[in-house]
Amino acid sequence: MSMGSIAETGSPLLKKAFDFALKAHEGKKRMNGDPYIVHPLSVAETVQSWGLDENSVAAALLHDVVEDTSVTIGDIKKTFGDEIAFLVSGLTKLQNLKYPENQDRENFRKFIISFSEDLRVLIIKLADRLHNMQTLQFLPPERQKPFALETAEIYAPLAYRLGMQKLSGELDDLAFPYSHPEEYQWLIGEVEETYEERQEYIKKVLPLVKTALKEHHREPLRIDGRVKRYFSLYKKLLRHNMNLGEIYDLVALRVIVKTIEECYAVLGIIHSMWPPLPGRFKDYIARPKPNGYRSLHTTVFCVDNKILEVQIKTKEMHEENELGIAAHWAYEQIKSSSRIRSGWRGVRDKKELTWVKQLQNWQKKFSSQEEFLSAVKVDFFKDRIFVFTPHNDVIDLPAGSTPVDFAYRIHSQIGNACVGAKVNGKITPLDYELKSGDVVEIITQKGKKPSEGWLRFVKTSEAKKKVKSAISENERKLIGRATPKAVEFKIVNSDRPGFLKDVTEVFANSKINITYLSSETDHRSAFSTVVLRCPVLSEAKVETCIVKLKRIPGSREVSYKFLR
Ligand code: MN
Repeated sequence: MSMGSIAETGSPLLKKAFDFALKAHEGKKRMNGDPYIVHPLSVAETVQSWGLDENSVAAALLHDVVEDTSVTIGDIKKTFGDEIAFLVSGLTKLQNLKYPENQDRENFRKFIISFSEDLRVLIIKLADRLHNMQTLQFLPPERQKPFALETAEIYAPLAYRLGMQKLSGELDDLAFPYSHPEEYQWLIGEVEETYEERQEYIKKVLPLVKTALKEHHREPLRIDGRVKRYFSLYKKLLRHNMNLGEIYDLVALRVIVKTIEECYAVLGIIHSMWPPLPGRFKDYIARPKPNGYRSLHTTVFCVDNKILEVQIKTKEMHEENELGIAAHWAYEQIKSSSRIRSGWRGVRDKKELTWVKQLQNWQKKFSSQEEFLSAVKVDFFKDRIFVFTPHNDVIDLPAGSTPVDFAYRIHSQIGNACVGAKVNGKITPLDYELKSGDVVEIITQKGKKPSEGWLRFVKTSEAKKKVKSAISENERKLIGRATPKAVEFKIVNSDRPGFLKDVTEVFANSKINITYLSSETDHRSAFSTVVLRCPVLSEAKVETCIVKLKRIPGSREVSYKFLR
């Protein structure tokens, strides 16, 4: 078994860790038939590519031995020392992280404690998850979805919170086909046909930008085009009522330059080439996003009047955006170890670690685990909530959702028949804003119809759509019932002379005007059909007429309908 890119380091420590792991996992295979060592090796290579230190790479190689083999943390400590043993034990603790099922809350807390003590634990864990997601197709189908959901709900947001944008997006995209199979298929179908056009479009625009920058004596380090990732597109569509026309960054150009001054200069050149869309310019250099993201964003009416997003940033910003804390961490390493790698320069101060410090403070501040966890949840999973059915199934909803959103998520019939809700056992108004951890029970009543007022507070587009369609269907039925304009009677008879006169007398005696009358005889069967219309009548009067019509000699069959 080859050590892959780990071998290039020539590090005796890594060689030793590799041999140790190889031996410990000997004979064990992964689901796809690969020798087990392929997994820790891949995790170690990822950790190494993120620029983490040797101990982290060694811990990555060893991350599954305590969990999966007879090796103990004590053995690791003896062979590799305290630091690596600490990392491995942190990774072992969070082997089977589940969220937010009650019995695993303790585990979740341990997880947060271990990574807030040393972020490398979390970063290695993320590399572990990345490889597991890349090989998810080999897992039994019944385990794929929960695993993908856990990735989407916990690990991708964690990566994002660490500022590891690229990884977060990758995890989301790997999880998407398993976590939301129907939505994924829908989206692939929606955007697929234009995908190649978009690729072609980038190819057309790229040289124009290069030439223009050259004319202005600007030499960017790199210009590349990118097509939006599926899951991030899907999330965006959810915020835009599934309207692809409102998405401006399906196609984007990324210009990487050397200095901040150059970022603004390039922005000026782009705006002189193509008019910017009003209100679409974002200066995340002057005002970075809360996760530390920095860049200039603008959207222009480009060639063929198509919309193009342009992102302009320095190389340093680009690397930080993609690697986040890992980049920062690597820089700290370089300072202390003098292993200078190009590109890791000029990292900001430690502000970006505030989030981790905040976590550590929380741990001290919150006496109860429950409190701590809810604080963590609020911040981690800001824009989504997780609520429970009475059977403890977890339902994932956007923040601000109400019991009505919940009801429609369960089933549209439950939504339509919803008359009330119990949250945590208490009767609660239907516009109540649900919170993570709430147990929601929907009270339904047969034949109940949704109320138009719900549209004021429902959060999910799904619920909105279903309420609207139920209301319009209802209205159609009501309108239909309220305004019949006439009644039509059809009397099949044996075509005897005087039958028509007897029929008209029934109506004349009841003082009902006849507005239309026809009689047709089918000569082969010798039956005749009389069709007669009159202004709308009450159901009772119609009944009376029918009884009388049936009594006419020769009458065979009488039916009626309301005409609208
Ligand atoms: Mn693993």
